[in-house]
Amino acid sequence: MARFACLRCGKCCQNFGPYLTVERELEEGHYYCHCSLSGEHFFARIIGKEMPAFVEKTFPGQAPCPFLCREGSSLYTCAIYPTRPRFCREYQCSSMDILDGTGERRGRVGGRRSLISKDQDLVTLWQKEIQPLPEDSEIIWRETVKAILEKGGYRVIVYERGNKERDPKRNGEMQTR
Ligand code: SF4
Ligand code: SF4
Repeated sequence: MARFACLRCGKCCQNFGPYLTVERELEEGHYYCHCSLSGEHFFARIIGKEMPAFVEKTFPGQAPCPFLCREGSSLYTCAIYPTRPRFCREYQCSSMDILDGTGERRGRVGGRRSLISKDQDLVTLWQKEIQPLPEDSEIIWRETVKAILEKGGYRVIVYERGNKERDPKRNGEMQTR
């Protein structure tokens, strides 16, 4: 199994505004926070120079996680990366990538066994052969799905849960997930 590499597109963090809340500022840059998705309280410490959304009031009209920072036009970082909550440490948007014979990504599996793809052949194969599969354990389901997709001519990369790569372009501190 491969390790999931976060591309720092920030899409997931941009939807977490309602779920991650700052309950108290303890001292400058230190916060007591709550993640309602996992129920955990956590201590957050802002690192680096990037200012998170709730300080800088970026993302007007949106409700991103308060600790999300924009870096350039399309990359995002987490202002509290070393102290982010467990939910964020464990989250990964893809459990599988599905590639064609040339190595181009045709789709991915995200959330709870959902296909995200614009490839109509892949969508049809998924609806016909994968959607009707029984609610097996994650391991059995993944192996079955991989076999069906490979038989259909696709290459499948399965990611380990909670074992993520750091972006090699980063120096180890600031990253989204
Ligand atoms: S986990 Fe990384 S690649 Fe996936 S949506 Fe979030 S920021 Fe983007
Ligand atoms: S990784 Fe950081 S920016 Fe993203 S949701 Fe978690 S705390 Fe917020």
